[in-house]
Amino acid sequence: MPNTNIIQAQNFSTFMLAGNAVFTVTNATTGNHFTFKVKRGYADRNPTWYVKVKSKSPKWVHLGTISGFKFRPNEIMKEKRNIEVTAFAWLFKQRRQLARFPTVKIYHEGGCARCGRTLTLPESIECGFGKTCAKLLDVEYGGPLYASAQ
Ligand SMILES: [Zn+2]
Repeated sequence: MPNTNIIQAQNFSTFMLAGNAVFTVTNATTGNHFTFKVKRGYADRNPTWYVKVKSKSPKWVHLGTISGFKFRPNEIMKEKRNIEVTAFAWLFKQRRQLARFPTVKIYHEGGCARCGRTLTLPESIECGFGKTCAKLLDVEYGGPLYASAQ
């Protein structure tokens, strides 16, 4: 049985930018793992996403923003040549083609990627979205979801 908390590579872009995505990335090649939170701001036009990370510290640390579909790391983190900045920049760049990197796995943390509510139904846990949100984002609900092109 597949691990149901793993986000399918082809759906990652939709998942990541859905509004309230919290996910852990593991890379079997490097042994690294990071937990990111990508939260969308309220503006409908020119939206901004706020990126936070949790890795060595148990607290969320602000990592940067995404606007105009570009990731802009927070200056302090950038100056430190922070590994989390490098990891997130890579992930954002590769978000539509993660299938090319089979050692990279994305696990959701039990909340709907769009609204952030706790997922309780097996179908929701399997796809990483609640039923209503899956419909709104035009992704297949239950089982591996096949998102519309983002
Ligand atoms: Zn939802």
